Amino acid sequence: MRLIIMGPPGAGKGTQAAFIAERFGIPAISTGDIFRANVSQGTELGVEAKRYMDAGQYVPDEVTNNMVRSRLAEDDTAPGFLLDGYPRTVAQVHELDSMLEESGRSIDAVVVLTVDQDEVVQRLLQRALEQGRADDTEDVIRTRQQVYADETAPLINVYRERGCLVEIDGMGQVDEVTSRIFDALDTTKG
Ligand code: ADP
Repeated sequence: MRLIIMGPPGAGKGTQAAFIAERFGIPAISTGDIFRANVSQGTELGVEAKRYMDAGQYVPDEVTNNMVRSRLAEDDTAPGFLLDGYPRTVAQVHELDSMLEESGRSIDAVVVLTVDQDEVVQRLLQRALEQGRADDTEDVIRTRQQVYADETAPLINVYRERGCLVEIDGMGQVDEVTSRIFDALDTTKG
């Protein structure tokens, strides 16, 4: 099972990604988590990424693409993988296409979580209190939402046209959303 999960900031991608990954026995690969790990370890990649992340901007495609390319070359992706936070730009879609093509793989489904924007701002501000993420202040959240609308929302149509889009209502309890995703993916896989 090779999957992508998409949705605006605060849609609950990371939370749902963990459940999906467990259910299918595949690694959840979160570009945001990999960047944050690099930031906290003070690596060169982390120093570079932090400038963008703190401002709510996307890290340059070249940096992100190289990181994903090496992650997808690891052995644990043999049974499949779930990408969380990648691709996020049309250029990243094309780069992912060629990475997968090179290794004879393809994406089975793209799960998109749809949510109410104002409600997710509240969720993110709550997360800021709990986890202290530097990019969870109200101004930066608004920027991230705008960047998502401009750069990432267009990907929904790209995948819809390819016929692999699975749209899920992301509002409600976490376990309700999880059931919706599992039901939809069961149908997808036939
Ligand atoms: P969220 O989905 O809540 O915005 P993430 O943890 O997925 O948060 O990402 C946090 C930040 O990491 C993004 O705002 C961006 O700066 C950077 N980032 C993550 N994935 C990508 C990507 N595919 N391309 C560019 N930047 C990315």
